[in-house]
Amino acid sequence: MSSGARIKPSFSENATKVLERRYLLKDEKGNLIETPEDMLWRVASAIAKAEKAFGDEESEEEWANKFYEMMASLDFLPNSPTLMNAGTPTAQLSACFVLPVGDSMDEIFDALKYTALVHKSGGGTGFNFSSLRPYGDIVKSTKGVASGPVSFMELFDHTTDVVKQGGMRRGANMGILNADHPDVIKFVKAKIEEGKLKNFNISVGTTQKFMKAVLNDEEWELVNPRTGEVVDKVGARNLFDLLCEMAWKTGDPGIIFLDKIEASNLTPNLGSITATNPCGEQPLLPFESCNLGSINLSNMVLPKGEIDWSKLERTVRIAVRFLDDVIEVNQFPIKEIADMTMSTRKIGLGVMGWADVLLKLRIPYDSDEALNLARKVMSFIAKIGHEESARLAETRGPFPAWKGSRWEEKGMLMRNATVTTIAPTGTISLVAEVSSGVEPVFALAYRRKAFEGEANLTYVNEILLDALREERLYSEALIELILERGSLKELDLPDSLKKVFVTAHDISPEWHVRMQAAFQEYTDNAVSKTINMPHEASVDDVKKAYLLAYELGCKGITIFRDRCKEDQVLYIGTGE
Ligand code: UDP
Repeated sequence: MSSGARIKPSFSENATKVLERRYLLKDEKGNLIETPEDMLWRVASAIAKAEKAFGDEESEEEWANKFYEMMASLDFLPNSPTLMNAGTPTAQLSACFVLPVGDSMDEIFDALKYTALVHKSGGGTGFNFSSLRPYGDIVKSTKGVASGPVSFMELFDHTTDVVKQGGMRRGANMGILNADHPDVIKFVKAKIEEGKLKNFNISVGTTQKFMKAVLNDEEWELVNPRTGEVVDKVGARNLFDLLCEMAWKTGDPGIIFLDKIEASNLTPNLGSITATNPCGEQPLLPFESCNLGSINLSNMVLPKGEIDWSKLERTVRIAVRFLDDVIEVNQFPIKEIADMTMSTRKIGLGVMGWADVLLKLRIPYDSDEALNLARKVMSFIAKIGHEESARLAETRGPFPAWKGSRWEEKGMLMRNATVTTIAPTGTISLVAEVSSGVEPVFALAYRRKAFEGEANLTYVNEILLDALREERLYSEALIELILERGSLKELDLPDSLKKVFVTAHDISPEWHVRMQAAFQEYTDNAVSKTINMPHEASVDDVKKAYLLAYELGCKGITIFRDRCKEDQVLYIGTGE
C-alpha cells in the first residue's frame, strides 16, 4: 500500500518521549526501528486488514488511510496494546480481560497461568475471588485447611511482578470479593500493609441488599460459598465503616455495585457479570476481553467556542468501525478468551480531554452546566456509536450471541454487545497531550515523574496560557508560582478565571461523583474515575462519596485521598 500523501503526526516532544519508551518498535539491542509516523501506519494498515473480509482490496487501503488520519491528527487513539502490538507477531490488541477463578487447585492455577499470558501480551486482568472457600475451611483431599482468597491473591500479585507486560509496563489486576464472603474483613484490610497486593486494585462486590442493610443498620450474613451455609454475622454498617476507613487510609478497597452492573448486562444469555478489568471501567463475563479507544474531545471544539458535532459524529463512526476491525485481527492469548470475545464482540469507545473542553469553553468542571454538557456529549456519542454498530451488523452480521441478548429484546441488530466505555487513558492522554478520560486536570502546571523516575516531564496547561495572555495577566513569575502550587486557588487572580481553571483537588468529592454519574447515564460499560479527596478529608467524607455513587447509579467507585500513600506518581509543585 502507498504511503504517499500522509499527514505528519503532530506529537510534541513530551509525547515523543512516551512513544519512544513505550510504543515504538526496537531491535534486539534496544535501538528504535520505527518513527511515530511508521508506528501509526503499522497500526492503521494492520487494523484495516480486517476490511478485506468484508470488502475488497481498495476499501482496505481507503480505511487504512482514514484510520491513519484519525490517529495522526490525534482525534482518536486506541488503547496501548493496540498501539504496541498491531502489525507485530504478538498481535494481542486488548487492554481488558476478566478471568474466572474456581474453587479447586486446578482452576486456581489455570487462572494463574492465563493471567501470566494476558499480562505478557499487555492486557490487564480482573477476577472475582468469591467462589473460593474461606480461610480455615476444610480441604477434603489433604484433610488440611484452606488458605482462603487473600492468600491466593498474593500468588497472582507475585506472578504480575515476575511477568512484565510486554516488557513495557507493569501488569494490573482487579480483585473483587463479595460482601457476604466469610473472608471479607481480611480482604478489606488486605492492603493496609505497605507493598502488599501492590499490583491489585481491590473492590468489595456489593448489592442493593447490602447497601440497604447498611442504611438500615442491619445484621449481615457471611456465607461459605462451598456449602451455602451462613457461618457468621456482622453489622452491615460496621463492615461498611471499616471498608471506608481502609479506603481513607490507602485508597483501597473501592466498591462495585454488582446488581447495577448485572442490570445492564446486555448478554445475560451467556451468564452473569461478577468482575471488571483493573481500573473498573469494563465489566466483563468470565473469559471475555474488550478493546478500548478514546476520542480526543479537545479536538472537537470549534474556534468560536462550540462543540463541532459533525466532526464528532464522523470520528465516532470511523472509531466504531476501527474497534470492530480490531476484534477481527486480534490474536487472543487462549482459545476460551477468543471464543468468548468473538461471541459478544464488545468494544469500548470513550473520551479523553474532557476537562480541556470545559476549560476551552470556560465552563467550571464543578457546575450544572458541565454536567449537562457531559450528558449531551456522551448521549450523542452513544447514539451515533450504536447507530454505526447497527449499520455494521447489516453488512457484517450481528454479534454471534445476539439471539437471546437484550439487543434482540429491543429489536436492534448490533455488531457489538457494548459500544461505549470511559477508560482512564493513562498513557494515550499523555501521547495526545490532553487531560485524561473525564478527569479534571490534576494540576495546571507540574513536573511529572515518569518511567520509574527516569524522566521528568514539565508541563504548563496550554489553555491556561492562552487565557492568561488574552487577559494580559501572563508573566514568567506567575507561571513559576502556578508551577509551585499546581492550582490558582490561593493566587491573586480574577474570580472568573479561578472558577474555571480548577484542578482535581479544588473540586469537592461530590462534584467528582456527579460527573462520573453523568457520564455513566449514557455509557454501556462503566466509567473510570478517581474521586480525589484532599489530605484533610475525613472517613465520613469517604462514606458520603460511596453512598452518593450508589444513589446516583454509578457502577462502582474508587476514591483517593491526597498523600495517603507515600509513593504517588504525580506530585504537585517543584523539586519532588
Ligand atoms: N492497563 C494495564 N496496565 C497498566 C495500565 C492499564 O493492564 O499499567 C489496562 C487496564 O485494564 C486498564 C486499561 O488498560 O483498565 C485501560 O487503561 P488506560 O486507559 O490507562 O490505558 P492506555 O491505553 O492509556 O495505556
